[in-house]
Amino acid sequence: MSPRPLMFFGTTNLDLCFNVERLPTPGESLMGSLKQNAGGKGANQAVAAARLGLRPSFYTRLGDDDAGRSLLQALREAGVRLDAIEVCPGEISGSALVLVGDDGSNMIVIDPGANANVTPSMVEKAAEFIERDAIVVAEMGMPVPALNHLFALKSVKEFDLIFNPAPVRAGLSPAAWRSVDFVTPNQTEAFELTGVEVHDFDGAAHAAGKLLDLGPKAALITLGAQGAYYADASATFALRAFPVKVVDTTAAGDAFNGAFAASLAHRLPIREAIKKALAVAALCVTRRGAQRSMPSSWAVDEFLN
Ligand code: ADP
Repeated sequence: MSPRPLMFFGTTNLDLCFNVERLPTPGESLMGSLKQNAGGKGANQAVAAARLGLRPSFYTRLGDDDAGRSLLQALREAGVRLDAIEVCPGEISGSALVLVGDDGSNMIVIDPGANANVTPSMVEKAAEFIERDAIVVAEMGMPVPALNHLFALKSVKEFDLIFNPAPVRAGLSPAAWRSVDFVTPNQTEAFELTGVEVHDFDGAAHAAGKLLDLGPKAALITLGAQGAYYADASATFALRAFPVKVVDTTAAGDAFNGAFAASLAHRLPIREAIKKALAVAALCVTRRGAQRSMPSSWAVDEFLN
């Protein structure tokens, strides 16, 4: 059976990554080494899925600048379909300053650039690329009115919707929340959305209950090195992360989301899809960078066997 169509909506950024011995404290100057990497939550997720053998569509906005051209090239090389992407004259591409310490922890500052200017009518146009029976993945880097519009289109287009609420922002409508099939926050985002501290699986169970009260059909909370917790109306379970040597945690959540979506597109049952997402995210944290750290399906199969 062929995979279900997959489309991602979200941000693309040029990441300016400094590797530093440890993260700085306020007022401190540190030496580090700089590398430029293709990133942005939406783009990272789409690339994670493409590396697993799919040809996902992607909607994002880029500036008509050198950064935009290199970001487009990175997406093309990964196998992401570019037809829906807007390259916008006179605008700058999104960028991010990423500091990565030797222990793999990071600090990130983002200038959204052209990502900030997505309107509901742009989303309406991009939604023409959503195919029948598709899985759609959105993150919260896009302006909230555009997200509300995209989620409302679900009643017309009948896609399954995965929503990674990162970074958390106010304003998503109750109807939009009710249209979400899977909401996939990390511990911080789950806390921001529910007020429940998620230190462990017990905390995740409590937060997941509150997330379901917002309206999504299922909640899937990632807990870094601990793993992930899933809850819907009829099932709850936790799956442990794969133990690996961490080099850089940048884009771990994006790897998880892209791989979860790809696995559902490959028609895996939910538990299997989460297990595969945990494997992809574990491999991602063993490598430096964002899109460049997404593993191929071959590497994932080898890791799991
Ligand atoms: P985010 O990157 O959005 O903050 P998390 O930190 O929760 O999200 O990580 C997402 C997923 O990445 C986790 O559920 C886990 O599968 C994987 N992961 C993150 N950190 C580690 C780690 N130290 N070891 C193994 N897997 C990890």
